[in-house]
Amino acid sequence: PSLEHEVARREVERVSEEFWMYIRAELTQIKEQASDPDLVRKVNNILEISADIHKKLKNDQSKLANMVDGTGKWRKKEAQRLTDLVQRRLEHLQNPPDCNTAKKMFCNLGKGCGYGCQLHHVTYCLIMAYATQRTLILQSEGWRYASKGWESVFLPLSKTCRTTGGQTTSRWGPNSMTDDAQIIELPIVDSLSPRPRFLPLAIPEDLADRLTHVHGDPSAWWVGQFVTYLTRPNAMLEQFLDEAKQKLGFTNPIVGVHVRRTDKVGMEAQFHSVDEYMRYANEWFDIYEKQHPGVQRRVYLASDDPGVLHEAKKNYPNYIFVSDNEVSKTASLGSRYTDASLRGVILDTYLLSRCNYLVCTFSSQVCRVAYELMQPLHGDASEWFKSLDDIFYFGGQNAHNWLAVEDHQSRREGEISFNAGDTVGVAGNHWDGYSKGRNAKTGKSGLFPSYKTVNKIDRVKMPTYPEVTD
Ligand code: GDP
Repeated sequence: PSLEHEVARREVERVSEEFWMYIRAELTQIKEQASDPDLVRKVNNILEISADIHKKLKNDQSKLANMVDGTGKWRKKEAQRLTDLVQRRLEHLQNPPDCNTAKKMFCNLGKGCGYGCQLHHVTYCLIMAYATQRTLILQSEGWRYASKGWESVFLPLSKTCRTTGGQTTSRWGPNSMTDDAQIIELPIVDSLSPRPRFLPLAIPEDLADRLTHVHGDPSAWWVGQFVTYLTRPNAMLEQFLDEAKQKLGFTNPIVGVHVRRTDKVGMEAQFHSVDEYMRYANEWFDIYEKQHPGVQRRVYLASDDPGVLHEAKKNYPNYIFVSDNEVSKTASLGSRYTDASLRGVILDTYLLSRCNYLVCTFSSQVCRVAYELMQPLHGDASEWFKSLDDIFYFGGQNAHNWLAVEDHQSRREGEISFNAGDTVGVAGNHWDGYSKGRNAKTGKSGLFPSYKTVNKIDRVKMPTYPEVTD
């Protein structure tokens, strides 16, 4: 299928999802405000039937996507080729023949935050290194999660070049793109100045067409490549992950649920009940069951709150819950920064990324890491998630814009207007048919119907690594 065909097909899938979210939200509101029991019954009926139609549509769409002989296979193979290419480019960048003369980027792991946040910090460093063709040197001794550093769990970022031994060092600044200094030091992304265009959610121009052809969220896929390279397990971790997978009885099909509670709730995110997560696990299995009758429902449950597993098991007896509860306990008892808690959160993100579907909150970096890792693994897994809050983002990203594809006239207070072709800076999707954003032309912020816009992905010139062949 052509690029246009694939883009159109995914657009149909996206808009039918927005349609269903809109109907569900509006009807639920009517139901909650109604005092007439007859009306409530009627609305419930419409909701039930619409939910059923939605599931049938999704099932039909997934059949259609793979109907033409071999398209499913082609998509997966092409995505895999792109993954191999990017991984080999990173390998090439990170292994210069002469470390003494190689241009380097220096990054300190010691950002004061959790594992997901620190991993994203290093991800940003590696993206900077890739785009400036400098080998990334990571300073990780004394890491709060493992005092011996990065290599106590992951493969070294380089086989040939791990030291900063260079003549000249400068900090990232206005001239860094042409700076001859052998080493450039990076600050945390929040203090980066100037901010280059190649930061996420940008994708490299040279791969953009191929990538857009096979993947619905090229930005997440691109970030996922860097996270994948960074988290290649060392032999000991690999053995631990394999054994844990076996011991826990992790088998597909399985839905991954990540419930982020403790310190996050109230401060940075809202509380969500177990039922809210399970509703989408149910929905996924209802659709899956259409082609696989009698499937055993399984959920991989990860959380920093040990009470969640007990509640889930009690209220969903038709599910098998796979969970590393021990580890979750350690995570929430204040001893978060230990070897055991590091292995725990690595195991959780690893197994969540191997699930068939992910239900979580994108406000959590743990959940976003899992989603990012998912992308290079499964062809196009861009729709394999339900986030209960944010849309996908990368901390410190450049402005995320959507493009209006139809005119819109505000219908109520708090809604914005736009014309087809306008750029809308997106703040979030309310998952009820509406998103929030700012019309760049009028400067007005507010709600607008999500279906009238499409994602606008920045394609930015980056080095093409011609030495690495496809
Ligand atoms: P965020 O705060 O959720 O955005 O993510 P961070 O990774 O920056 O910080 C949260 C920390 O809490 C993690 O690094 C873990 O140490 C711990 N944590 C949160 N959720 C889980 C989970 O599901 N499993 C485990 N093992 N640890 C978790």
